[in-house]
Amino acid sequence: MEHIEPIRKKRFEVRSSHPCEFCKELDPQFPHRHPMDQEVSFNGKSSASAHLTEDGYVRHRMVELSQLASRRSRSVA
Ligand SMILES: [Zn+2]
Repeated sequence: MEHIEPIRKKRFEVRSSHPCEFCKELDPQFPHRHPMDQEVSFNGKSSASAHLTEDGYVRHRMVELSQLASRRSRSVA
C-alpha cells in the first residue's frame, strides 16, 4: 500500500463535526484512522469533500470506489 502523506493542518472546529457515517459503516479500517480523519463537517453530508482532513477525504473516496467496484461487477478494469 502506498504511503499517503497526511495533511492535518487544516483548520477545523470540533463542535461542528461528527464521524462520517458512510466511512463508519463501510470502512473496516475506520476505527484505526486518526480521529480527525473520521470527522466530517457538521453541515456536510457524509461525502468525501465534507471530510476535514485530506487523509479522510482520500479514504472516503477509496471506500466509495470499492463500493462502485463491487457494484459494477460486470465492468472489467
Ligand atoms: Zn467518509
